[in-house]
Amino acid sequence: MLKDKVAVVTGSTSGIGLGIARALAAGGSDLVINGFGEATVIEHLRQEIAGAYGVRVAFSGADLSKPAEAIGLIEHTIRELGHIDVLVNNAGIQHVAPVQDFPVERWDAVIAINLTAVFLTTRAVLPQMLARDWGRIINIASVHGLVASVDKSAYVASKHGVVGLTKVVALETAATGITCNAICPGWVLTPLVQKQIDSLAARENLDPEEAKVKLLGEKQPSLEFTTPEQLGALAVFLCSDAAAQLNGVALPVDGGWLAR
Ligand code: NAD
Repeated sequence: MLKDKVAVVTGSTSGIGLGIARALAAGGSDLVINGFGEATVIEHLRQEIAGAYGVRVAFSGADLSKPAEAIGLIEHTIRELGHIDVLVNNAGIQHVAPVQDFPVERWDAVIAINLTAVFLTTRAVLPQMLARDWGRIINIASVHGLVASVDKSAYVASKHGVVGLTKVVALETAATGITCNAICPGWVLTPLVQKQIDSLAARENLDPEEAKVKLLGEKQPSLEFTTPEQLGALAVFLCSDAAAQLNGVALPVDGGWLAR
């Protein structure tokens, strides 16, 4: 379905981004993966995905906290691969602290990566999508784009911002072949969440398994983690013709979190 398409997935060396990158490659799309990590591990990953699905896979180490690098990721890809059909804005970070103790530098970093980079890549990718009258922009927001939790001021503000930006882009491109949607996962067991499980275990003197169950039990009624594979399948669906009229929405994939 995605043959001859080019997809850029930010933050795809790990976790959800990697799951989405794999699903798009399995659908036949060429890929640019992005993110941090050890060079040899990333090169192995790049070759493994390219080999498994018979698609071209390039890597960019662009640091999305830096505006010039976020814009450069898109401009460089268009120069090298000719076009971008699918942009998945997935890279994101978390920092947990009450507002009165929240370090300003951490606030700035969360907003820069989780929100400003999404604006910058979208702004850079849109002209050629508009010229080709087709495109899919998929923003990985969070349930925290729709509701709040304590100690996550920057994250919740950034993700609410992403949901708002998604709606504006959807409206501005509504009469074209472009759609822009947000996916809002609940808990997904990735390095970003493992850190929160580890600190819960340390804080409440729990073993790792107990901490996982407690974390899920507080928010996610299914008591199961959403998986990167499930989110990858949803991203592929959003790229399909069946989803051409699905536009400007924030789709929770949260085991019932928001139904409470
Ligand atoms: P993760 O930590 O496993 O992966 C984050 C990815 O982003 C990595 O590839 C990392 O290298 C990359 N990254 C971080 N900073 C970057 C920067 N400055 N420039 C470029 N790349 C950078 O995290 P994850 O859990 O897979 O999260 C992915 C997205 O999903 C984030 O936007 C996160 O907010 C969102 N999300 C996660 C969960 C969850 O439960 N894990 C839930 C809802 C939403």
